[in-house]
Amino acid sequence: MSALIGIGYDSHRLAAGRRLVIGGVEIPHGQGLQGHSDADVLAHAVIDALLGAAGLGDIGEHFPDTDERWRDADSMALLKQVVATIDSAGMAIVNVDCTLVMEAPKLGSRRAAIRESLATALQCEPRRVNVKASTGEGIGFVGRGEGVAALAVASLQAPADAS
Ligand code: MG
Repeated sequence: MSALIGIGYDSHRLAAGRRLVIGGVEIPHGQGLQGHSDADVLAHAVIDALLGAAGLGDIGEHFPDTDERWRDADSMALLKQVVATIDSAGMAIVNVDCTLVMEAPKLGSRRAAIRESLATALQCEPRRVNVKASTGEGIGFVGRGEGVAALAVASLQAPADAS
């Protein structure tokens, strides 16, 4: 059976008066991520990795930020929608690996909660979802605390008739 691989990348600006939601987990912080939806940068990177592996375009095509339907959208609900699309196309998630690049706050113990949250949305075991954290080392927009970036890789099992 053939394996399908996809990559995802996203970044959002940090701003006052916004919630900081990472992989569906709200993290108390002085500021949050700015965007049309809830700006869950990690969920967005995972969505793009899944769409990439499935050959289904990108998040902007599926959930355009010009569409009022997606204003303040719960990105985990969007992720679940993508998972359902992949499932109905006969593809199965093998694993997802992602890296959050954020200067502060440190993820610490929240990393396990984020992993659980993503695994629930992906409908797979937590061992198939890996969440890593990195910083900008004081360099660039992440290092200056201006924004947060996320990268993800997803592996899908192709439908039996497509291998
Ligand atoms: Mg985004």
